[in-house]
Formats: sequence, structure tokens, C-alpha cells
Amino acid sequence: MLGSLTIHQPATVAEAAKLRAELGDDGAIYAGGSELLLVMKEGIGRWRHLIDVKGIAALRELRDAGDRLDIGATVTHRDLERSPLLRARFPVLADMQAQVANVRVRNVGTLGGNLCFAEPHSDPSTALLVHDARVVLSGPTGARTLPLAEFVVGSYETALRADEVLVRIEVPAPPARAVGAYLKFGFHERPTVGVAALIVPAGDRIAEARVSVGCIGPTPARLAALEARLAGTSVTALAAGIDARDGGFADLDVVSDLHGSAEYKREVAAVLASRALAAAARRVRSAA
Ligand SMILES: Cc1cc2nc3c(=O)[nH]c(=O)nc-3n(C[C@H](O)[C@H](O)[C@H](O)COP(=O)(O)OP(=O)(O)OC[C@H]3O[C@@H](n4cnc5c(N)ncnc54)[C@H](O)[C@@H]3O)c2cc1C
Repeated sequence: MLGSLTIHQPATVAEAAKLRAELGDDGAIYAGGSELLLVMKEGIGRWRHLIDVKGIAALRELRDAGDRLDIGATVTHRDLERSPLLRARFPVLADMQAQVANVRVRNVGTLGGNLCFAEPHSDPSTALLVHDARVVLSGPTGARTLPLAEFVVGSYETALRADEVLVRIEVPAPPARAVGAYLKFGFHERPTVGVAALIVPAGDRIAEARVSVGCIGPTPARLAALEARLAGTSVTALAAGIDARDGGFADLDVVSDLHGSAEYKREVAAVLASRALAAAARRVRSAA
């Protein structure tokens, strides 16, 4: 049972932030509601006021900002999956969005809601990490921008302040010729492991590689050791598949849970990383 509720429908981000400040622990931001309403129905959280941010035009914008993509916090997974702009310029993100949950959840669930809820078994934060994405937060004292890596700080934990609203996600355009892939694996409703890879080729050499892994610990992480090892290596060798197991997985904070032991997750993550990199390398060769 949800009990009696007051729904507020601010027209601007400033109004929403003001409501957050005024309502304190009694109010929660309500976007698609796919996480929030579950939490309330299961009695895990209780708020008497919901601040419905779906009517705020600025939060619904999906914009090509030249050297970056701006995704408003309430743009849904489904809008992103189907966006011609995303498909053309950020195909790894479009592919990842198409793999989130099921079409019913994707239709209502928003990117901002996904990031603010910070459920560790989440796809977007992993894929956004290889794009060096940033978040723009707004509160009564103004706006601030944070790298996504500093926004998601733990399981269900973000750097969002109690009077702030997530306004948009800024995704810098990847370097020219960059190609990538996002792969996930799981047998529950939410993913057990997600891996994103992006490589920048220079002929048959890899000028730059970015790899991130998510779902296996409290926060997604870039694999700096693997990225460093790949720089300068051959695209052809990568396409054939590499053993990624010594790529820094041992240093990650990995949690044993219903999805499996930490050891198992490290192993699956290494296999997925190798496959995602091979898929990206094959794309380089087919584009040549
Ligand atoms: C059956 C099921 C399967 C799923 N499978 C997957 C999956 O495979 N991969 C995956 O990544 N995710 C999965 N999810 C999670 C899904 O992606 C999220 O539920 C969804 O994106 C959350 O968005 P929302 O708009 O519904 O958030 P809401 O439920 O509205 O909000 C979630 C939280 O974020 C806060 N919030 C929302 N917007 C803002 C904002 N702009 N500023 C500040 N705070 C805000 C809310 O107060 C709340 O605390 C699954 C969910 C379900 C129910």
C-alpha cells in the first residue's frame, strides 16, 4: 500500500530543488517510478510527498551539443534506444540502452532515475564510464558538474545532495574512429556482469583503449591496467580474443551475492571483457 500522497508537479528545475529543500526527508523525486514505487510498495521507503519531475521541459531534452551529447535526466531508456542521434554517434550507448530490463521498464524508466537510484546491477553507469560522462546537478545555491565516477559512490549511494536535482548527463563525443561494444550477462532480472569497451585504432594498432566493468561490486570501474596493456597492441590480435584475466580484476572491489561468488564474477567479467574487445576490433576491421 502506498498510503496517502501529495504529488507536486514543478514546472522548473529551480522549483523542484526548492521543494526538495522544503520537504526534506518527507519528499522524494518521482521520475518513471519504476524503482521508487517498488521501494514504497515493499515498505522499504516511505514519503508523503512525491516531486514529479516529468513535466519539466529542460529535463526531457536530448541534444547534440557539438562536442558532446546532453541527455536530460528524464529521457527514458526507450527514447535513447531509438534515438537516431545516439545510434549514429554513440552506438555503444544505444546498444546498451536496448539491453536494459524489458520494454515495459524501458518505456517509463529514465536514465536519471537509473543513475540516482545507483542500484549496483545497472547497465548505464558502466557504459557511460568509458565515455567519461559527467552529471549536472542543480540545487538552491546553483549548479555543479561532477564526473560520473564521482557521482556513483556506492551501492544505492550517490553524491547527490538532499536539495539537488540531477538535470542532465553530458557525454563527450568519443575520439574520431572510436568503436566499441557493450556486453552483459545474467540469469536474474538484473545483470550479473556488464562490460563496456571502446578502442581507438591507428592502422592495425590500438592508440587508446577504454574498458569498464559493472554490476560485480558497489560501483562500476575502469580497468586501467588492461587499458594500459592494450595501448599499442594489434587490432588483429584483439579480434582473435585475448586473455584479459590479468587486466586488474583482482584489484576490484567485488561482492559475493545471489548472482554468484566474487571469484566467479571476476572470471565472467574477464571473459566478457575479452569478447567486448574482440567485437570492437572486428568492427574496426569491417569498417576498414
Ligand atoms: C523488472 C526490472 C528490471 C530491470 N532491469 C534492469 C537492467 O537490466 N539494467 C538496468 O540498468 N536497470 C534495470 N532496472 C532498473 C531500471 O533501469 C530503473 O528502474 C529505471 O531506469 C529507473 O528510472 P525511473 O525514472 O523509473 O526512476 P524512479 O523510480 O522514478 O527514481 C529512482 C530514484 O532516483 C531518484 N530520482 C529520479 N530522478 C531524479 C532526478 N532527476 N534527480 C534526483 N533524483 C532523481 C528518485 O527519487 C528515486 O530515488 C530494472 C528495473 C525493473 C523494475
